[in-house]
Amino acid sequence: MKKVLINIDYTNDFVAPNGALTCGQPAQDIEKAITEITEEFIQNGDFVVFAIDKHNPNDALHPENKLFPPHNITGTAGRNLYGTLHDVYLQNKEKENVYWMDKTRYSAFAGTDLEIKLRERGITEIHLVGCATDICVFQTAVDTYNKGFQMVVHKEAVASFNPTGHQWALDQFKNTFGAKVL
Ligand code: ZN
Repeated sequence: MKKVLINIDYTNDFVAPNGALTCGQPAQDIEKAITEITEEFIQNGDFVVFAIDKHNPNDALHPENKLFPPHNITGTAGRNLYGTLHDVYLQNKEKENVYWMDKTRYSAFAGTDLEIKLRERGITEIHLVGCATDICVFQTAVDTYNKGFQMVVHKEAVASFNPTGHQWALDQFKNTFGAKVL
């Protein structure tokens, strides 16, 4: 069985103490785990996708501009990966199994070529890490389930600004989607 690691929105804006839409300490606390899992996938030759929000604050049609402060703005450092994960990405970004993928909605599948990238590689199992657990990770999990992929969520490597939402999403992954929550 072939697998992929989808790294969701672990950027300065979502993680750093001064990030525009930071998940705060819970997100900073997963830095070691998300970095180690990512290195392991890269070294094993498994596919690793960095699915990263890309926004334009002047897009009047984008609903997120009414719901959240501007974040992950094109060309800003807020869109860079946070901490040691940023270093791992820079060291490995030329590798064939490392793929940076811009997204503009919550799910990594929405409006992207993610599904075809996975199908053409024969990938059947999706591993999810990043933030926020109950927003972008959750919405990607919904699509993962509905498109018929197996799912693994690494609970030490997901985080949210909302502790209640975080726990609710972890329960959903397991009880509604049949994911392995490691
Ligand atoms: Zn966003």
